[in-house]
Amino acid sequence: MLFDSAVHSVIIHTPFITKKQFLELSSFFEVSLQAGKSVSGASVDANGKFVVKVEKRTIDFVDYISANYVLVATGSSQQGYSFAAQHGHSIIPPVPSLFTFKIADKRLADLSGVSFTRVTAKLMLDGIQKSAPELTQTGPMLVTHWGLSGPVVLRLSAWGARELYQDKYQAKLVVDFIPDIHIEDVKRILFQHKDQHA
Ligand SMILES: Cc1cc2nc3c(=O)[nH]c(=O)nc-3n(C[C@H](O)[C@H](O)[C@H](O)COP(=O)(O)OP(=O)(O)OC[C@H]3O[C@@H](n4cnc5c(N)ncnc54)[C@H](O)[C@@H]3O)c2cc1C
Repeated sequence: MLFDSAVHSVIIHTPFITKKQFLELSSFFEVSLQAGKSVSGASVDANGKFVVKVEKRTIDFVDYISANYVLVATGSSQQGYSFAAQHGHSIIPPVPSLFTFKIADKRLADLSGVSFTRVTAKLMLDGIQKSAPELTQTGPMLVTHWGLSGPVVLRLSAWGARELYQDKYQAKLVVDFIPDIHIEDVKRILFQHKDQHA
């Protein structure tokens, strides 16, 4: 959580800097870093300023910080949503996204680890119009030991997140492994191959 009080406070959230660099940047921006504490409440005082309640997890410690602005950046913490709701924001309950698909199809088992550079996969969900373009994705796909993964599957899991949740994660997936070749051309190639090698 970021709050602007007497000193300017900036949070830099990136995995690409070391702890030392982070501390240097914090000191440069006059950021006060407080570890081992959590924000347990944020209210507004009579002057319209935020009052942020900070508690230490291990000991009996409570502090109140006055702030002009509060930025809630608590990730998926339920507490963060509560703070936002308390201050008038409406919260749409989140559902999981960006996951792989578990598929009980024995034919996939022996293909575990095989990747395809370009497939087209269509997710068929109850109550969804067949034409929903975002539920058809083209790109790389990977067969895993329990189903399918890769960019195509992750994208479908994101676009279909709410409907998959509603349908208790039961859906049909149609995969075209040769999306750039017309079915008649495939047949012709196979017949040619048969003629040459049978
Ligand atoms: C296994 C895994 C792999 C991932 N891989 C990737 C990847 O390769 N690429 C990618 O782009 N994304 C990836 N992500 C997603 C990415 O980690 C998240 O999207 C990102 O961390 C979200 O950032 P955030 O700042 O919103 O929340 P968070 O990173 O969750 O940060 C919120 C912070 O707020 C703190 N906090 C919560 N409540 C309070 C409170 N009351 N008081 C004080 N502090 C509080 C929490 O302790 C936490 O440190 C991955 C996620 C997971 C779980």
